[in-house]
Amino acid sequence: MNKKLNVTFTPYERTRYAYDKLRLCRKCGSYTVLSADVCPSCGSRTLSDIPAAARRETRRSMQSELLFAALLTLLAMFFAGTMPWIGISAAAGILLTGLLAFAQRRAYEAQIRIRTDRLFARDRDRIRHGLIQDIRAAEARLESEPARAYEMLREVNTLLRNDPIRGLQAELLQTFLLRRDMDLLVDSLIMEGFSAHLAGYIGEVARLNRELIKENAIRYCLRYEPRIRSLPRGDHILASVAGAAVRMKRYIELYPDFIRRYAHKLPEDRLERLREVLAQHPGSLEPLKLEADEVYRVRFGGRSPRRGASGGEGDFS
Ligand SMILES: [Zn+2]
Repeated sequence: MNKKLNVTFTPYERTRYAYDKLRLCRKCGSYTVLSADVCPSCGSRTLSDIPAAARRETRRSMQSELLFAALLTLLAMFFAGTMPWIGISAAAGILLTGLLAFAQRRAYEAQIRIRTDRLFARDRDRIRHGLIQDIRAAEARLESEPARAYEMLREVNTLLRNDPIRGLQAELLQTFLLRRDMDLLVDSLIMEGFSAHLAGYIGEVARLNRELIKENAIRYCLRYEPRIRSLPRGDHILASVAGAAVRMKRYIELYPDFIRRYAHKLPEDRLERLREVLAQHPGSLEPLKLEADEVYRVRFGGRSPRRGASGGEGDFS
């Protein structure tokens, strides 16, 4: 295996909505997720977020409505002819324009939401184009700054989720020396198709930080189990995932057969955890229980575990 790169990357900033990271350039109209201030297309500091862009468009359209109302008032006054009618037209016009302004203020928030939806519908192609530009920018750094390229793809992946982007990230991650303190993402990388890089990455994360292995990742391994098993150290990947799965009773109940197939490869602490959960629920999951007991008997015989075993998952990587 090639030497893995020792890199650091910034933690992933989670936002409420996926589009919270999207920026629109007021100057050239490009979209990007890679920068919060400088537009990568034209280089000017004219980026604004989507709520700000929607607010600006809403205000602009409300202003033109008011202008139109004022213009109508002036026209009415112009054609009124006599002084009393000019007065009546002016009063009615001012009243109606005032009412319009009042109604606009009441509907402001709702209008912004409508504008936001319209903006996405109208600019769909431009957003897509912007994200593709972002991917190109990331690809240009694959060799020179792989960690930065990964960060960029991670940002694009917030909005544009497809297998090539996920696959590229998994591939990059497999070239890095992963550590437990890194902000490692798993769920957002789960692909439709099979990727040996992704499988390898899931296995590594399962060993580093098993809390990150959730149902999505387990199901992915289950779906591509034969292909993962045919990989070099594929059994280790699957056993690590099974080992991560036994932390939750729910996963044991959902995937007993999967866990049973790798019970013989579970490290000591995982095997104990599995037996502990099963002991709390006598009568259920019999085949898994039998297998776990059998593995335990073969491995430890009459010996008490924890003595002589060489340190849990350490010898398992
Ligand atoms: Zn621009």
